[in-house]
Amino acid sequence: MEPLESKAPHVLIFPLPAQGHVNSMLNLAQLLSLAGLNITFLKTDHNHNFLVLHSNILHRFACFPGFQFKSIPDGLPDDHPRAGVRFMEMFDSFELLNTATGQSVTCIIADGILSFPIDVGNELGIPVIHLRTGSACYFLACFCIQDMIEAGELPIRASNLADLDLQLVANKTRQSLRAHALILNMFEDLEGRVLSHIHAKCPKIYTIEPLHAILKSKLEYKTTLLQSRSQNSLFKVDKSCMVWLNAQPLKSIIYVSFGSITIMTKDKLMEFWYGLVNSKKRFLWAIRPDLVIQIDGEGQIPVELVEGTKDRGYMVGWVPQEEVLVHQAVGGFLTHSGWNSTLESIVVGVPMICWPYFVDQ
Ligand code: UDP
Repeated sequence: MEPLESKAPHVLIFPLPAQGHVNSMLNLAQLLSLAGLNITFLKTDHNHNFLVLHSNILHRFACFPGFQFKSIPDGLPDDHPRAGVRFMEMFDSFELLNTATGQSVTCIIADGILSFPIDVGNELGIPVIHLRTGSACYFLACFCIQDMIEAGELPIRASNLADLDLQLVANKTRQSLRAHALILNMFEDLEGRVLSHIHAKCPKIYTIEPLHAILKSKLEYKTTLLQSRSQNSLFKVDKSCMVWLNAQPLKSIIYVSFGSITIMTKDKLMEFWYGLVNSKKRFLWAIRPDLVIQIDGEGQIPVELVEGTKDRGYMVGWVPQEEVLVHQAVGGFLTHSGWNSTLESIVVGVPMICWPYFVDQ
């Protein structure tokens, strides 16, 4: 790990510990590091263990001068589930934490859905910038939803405000007002119209055209660092899908993934599976090991699904998604509409069929 460059500003970056959030904030961290800033990337021990297990992250980031990783506990036992609704429990445990880095930090860039780093920054006299990893529209919707429901402007009853997840995201979003500035990962062409509304509430906004795309183009000029575009994956990446894709006709594949947090019942999974097989289209499906809630044990997979998949499908636990989306065999993406997946798909022009699951989707 490189020592910090003494004269350059030192930025502490802290994402919510979920794949999509870690991905976009690591992209920003690399961009700032390439611009000559010292970076401390703070992650949870749980994320650290999985990143080290499933990627060569420490080796790759050693090429970035003044870049260091640090980690802290997330407050949950190691075997506590961190997907689906259990994911939201992490917010409570996080609120109990405090982050002291021990090194002089010029600025903190914290995940916009976490408010406690603002309190830490205020206590230490360090400016805190919020980065929202979801869309600008989602930010604005969360910001306004309480007022809109109370004013009767939405066909939603005021009793819906009692929904704890809704309250959580609405409250956290309002906390961004206390941040020094707000960074949004977006296309202005797509979301430019909502920016003026956000601007009226948060005067200092920095919009960055999709982080992953900017980083990719910057790294193309730095061949020694190009490998740092490899996966920063919390899951075991199965690259065999690329070999399978290579053997498929042009734009013939529908790629299916529901991201890193979504969970579903076995019934739902079977419904998707029948749909894919009955569509007679070829498909590549990333099924995370913890995607399905098993209620009635494993059960038998109907023979028509097994046969249909053998003929036209390929299933793996986790794919190198950006590589998959840009592959010439891929013609469509059935997605849960996570913001990273959405941006990654738009950038390479792959049409999406959307099955939104929760929060920003
Ligand atoms: N991803 C991946 N392989 C997979 C599925 C997803 O690399 O098999 C990556 C994807 O490229 C994206 C992130 O995981 O960057 C998922 O983030 P997103 O915001 O789309 O959804 P979330 O997981 O936060 O619900």
